[in-house]
Amino acid sequence: MVPIMHPPARYRVGDFDIAVISDGYIRLDGGAVFGLVPRVMWEPVIGADNIDAQHRVPLGLNCMVVRRGKDVLLVETGMGNKHSKAVRERSFPGDYGHLLAALVRLDLAPEDITAVANTHLHTDHCGWNTVRREDGEVVPTFPNARYFAQEGEYEVAMHPNERTRGTYFAENFEPLVRGGRMTLVRGEHQVMPGVQFLPTPGHTADHASIVLTSGGETAIYTGDLVHHATQMERPAWIAAFDVLPLVSLETKKALAERAIRERALLVCVHNAFPGVGRLVEEDGRRRFVPE
Ligand SMILES: [Zn+2]
Repeated sequence: MVPIMHPPARYRVGDFDIAVISDGYIRLDGGAVFGLVPRVMWEPVIGADNIDAQHRVPLGLNCMVVRRGKDVLLVETGMGNKHSKAVRERSFPGDYGHLLAALVRLDLAPEDITAVANTHLHTDHCGWNTVRREDGEVVPTFPNARYFAQEGEYEVAMHPNERTRGTYFAENFEPLVRGGRMTLVRGEHQVMPGVQFLPTPGHTADHASIVLTSGGETAIYTGDLVHHATQMERPAWIAAFDVLPLVSLETKKALAERAIRERALLVCVHNAFPGVGRLVEEDGRRRFVPE
């Protein structure tokens, strides 16, 4: 299959330059993506053409580059390139590993990234945090960046249980903490002026979205608060991946209210590229309008 290479999608929020780029996509079981919602309801929304013979649906791996002055923040790092063939085929089929090539299209090299923020530490969100050198050592992909993640998420990621261990790979974050490159933060931590974590628990207990505010405008990188645009419109549509689904429900309702009130630009990691839009309310119905 030809690798997908989307041109960067560019936006402006106050004095931030935003570019959405993609690491590619993964295919996950449609039933898991839509949780309790029966297929007869989600299939027309996703489109029968998008469902493969194994009932899997595509999920984008949209990452966000935020630039202002000399600061270059990368939010999320996709699947990366460290997984074995067995893991790729069994657990994470798809076409990915394209993030560094996508950065080139922004004239950015790994050395240019000054900060990296992860909403949580599942492997589809922090895969390119690190790379494995030829000698086997795992090193930071972005040698000049300070990495940020939530402390509670790191604790859970380092002590996975039977249900969560399939998606927490220590090589994506442990070498960064051990090497003093990753700052573990609590709650609403500021990553750079105008950019901060916003705790949005549910998908994981310490999941946090990234909020940009500048010049009276807001952008929110949602992380795994939703896995498909339609889940922004329908609060009860919650992925089976969430460890605290009823918390997700309340978190999503609160964030949706804010997104509508502030006319926030939403960047959704797993929507079809670029996964950017605004939530609008008309006649009591909410609609995600792509931009
Ligand atoms: Zn995810």
